[in-house]
Amino acid sequence: MTHEIIEKSKKHLWLPFTQMKDYDRDPLIIESGKGIKVRDVNGKEYYDGFSSVWLNVHGHRKKELDEAIVDQLSKIAHSTLLGMTNVPATELAEKLVELSPENLTRVFYSDSGAEAMEIALKMAFQYWQNIGKPEKQKVVSMRNGYHGDTIGAVSIGSIDLFHHVYGALMFESYKAPIPNVYRSESGDPDQCRDECLHALEQLLIEKHQEIAALSIESMVQGASGIFVMPEGFLSGVRTLCTKYDVLMIVDEVATGFGRTGKMFACEHEGVQPDLMAAGKGITGGYLPIAVTYTTEKIYEAFYDDYENLKTFFHGHSYTGNQLGCAVAIENIRLFEAEDIVGQVAKKTEDLKSMLDDLYALPHVGDIRQLGFMCGIELVQSKKTKEPFPFEKRVGYHVSLKMRELGMLTRPLGDVIVLMPPLASTKEELQEMVSIIKEAIEVVTRERVELG
Ligand code: PLP
Repeated sequence: MTHEIIEKSKKHLWLPFTQMKDYDRDPLIIESGKGIKVRDVNGKEYYDGFSSVWLNVHGHRKKELDEAIVDQLSKIAHSTLLGMTNVPATELAEKLVELSPENLTRVFYSDSGAEAMEIALKMAFQYWQNIGKPEKQKVVSMRNGYHGDTIGAVSIGSIDLFHHVYGALMFESYKAPIPNVYRSESGDPDQCRDECLHALEQLLIEKHQEIAALSIESMVQGASGIFVMPEGFLSGVRTLCTKYDVLMIVDEVATGFGRTGKMFACEHEGVQPDLMAAGKGITGGYLPIAVTYTTEKIYEAFYDDYENLKTFFHGHSYTGNQLGCAVAIENIRLFEAEDIVGQVAKKTEDLKSMLDDLYALPHVGDIRQLGFMCGIELVQSKKTKEPFPFEKRVGYHVSLKMRELGMLTRPLGDVIVLMPPLASTKEELQEMVSIIKEAIEVVTRERVELG
C-alpha cells in the first residue's frame, strides 16, 4: 500500500512550490496527525515545525475543532454568499471585527491569503474611482515582499526567485525599500528604519497624487527570510500613508491570529490599516478561509444605487463556506478560552533563549524572531556574512536532515524556518530547536566543511 501510493503520487501529482525532481527523490505522504505531530504513510512521526505552512494553531485533530465541523455538517456544508449570507459567516464576521484594530468594521471573505490581498488591492483601486479620484491608480509595494501567487499578489511581491519569470504578466508597482538590519552597513536598526522611511517619503512626495495604496507585510517580512522590521517602521509607514493620502494595506496573512504574540502584528505598534488581509490561522489551520478587512469609509464608497456602478464585482464559488466559518468561530473561542495569544507572548522569551544557543554554531549568522515566527540564517562566513553558494542548497539539505530526525519545515533559501503550532509546549519547543541544531551541525559539517 505504501509503495503503491507513493508511486501514484509520483505519477499524477504536481506539487506547489516544488521541484518535482526533488519530490521524486524524497517523497513524503502524510496520513494523519495528532497534537503538534504528523505521521506519514510509513508510520514515521514528525514535529510540524512550520505549522503545515504557517497555519496550525492548536495542533492537529483538536477535539473542539473537529466537533465544530461535524456539527455544522449536520446542517449544511455550503451555500453561496453571492447576494445572501449564511449563519456561521455572519456570526464569524462579528467576531472577526471584535478582534481587529478598531477602525476595521467590515469583512469580505475569500479562500486564501493571495485572494485576500487581491481583494484589498481591487477595493483600494476602485475606492478612488468611486469617490471621483480616478487618477490614483498606482501601488507602492515593499522590496522583497510576498503576498501570494496570483498575478495581482505577484505584481506587488518582489522576491526575484519566485517572481521574475512572470515579469511580463505583472502590473507595475513602485518598490519601496524595506529595512534589512543584518545586512545593512551600519547594523543599526534605527538608522536602517529612518533611511527606508526617508526613501519612502521621497517617493510619496513625488508620486502621491497617482498612488492609490501601499501594501506591506505586518511587522515581519515572512517569505523573503523572516525579517523583523525595526521598531517604529510600520507605524512610520502608517504616518506617511496618512500624510500623503494613500491607503495602507497591511498583510497579516502570516502574522495574524496570534503568530507574533499579539492577535494581529500591527498591534505591536498600534497601527490601524485601511485594509487588512488575514488567512492561515483564522481556522486554526483546518479549512481555507481568508478575509479582507476594511473601514466603514471605504465600504460606504461602494454603497449606492446599482445603476451608479459602484458595486464590488468580485467573488469566489466557496466564499464564506459554512464549514470553514464554523471552525473559525470555534478557533476564536479557543483562542480566548486557552489564552493562546498570552501563551505565545509568554513562551516567546523561552523560545528566544533556546534559539540563542544556536549562535554557537559556526554557520549561524543571524536569528530573527517575533513571537513564534523564527528564521535562522545560515551563512558561509559569519564574519563577512557571505552566503553559501546557491547550488549547495544548504537550507534544503538541513530541512531534509530535520525530516530524518523527525521534524518538518520548509526553508526559505538558507533561512531555516521555525513556526511551531501556537499551542506547542516549552518541552516541544526545546525538542524542535534541538533537532534544528543537530541538523545544522551535521549538514554544515558534512556538506560544507568536508566538501
Ligand atoms: N501573504 C503573506 C504575508 C504570506 O506569507 C502568504 C503565504 O505564505 C500569503 C500572503 C499567501 O497566502 P495563501 O498561501 O493562503 O494564498
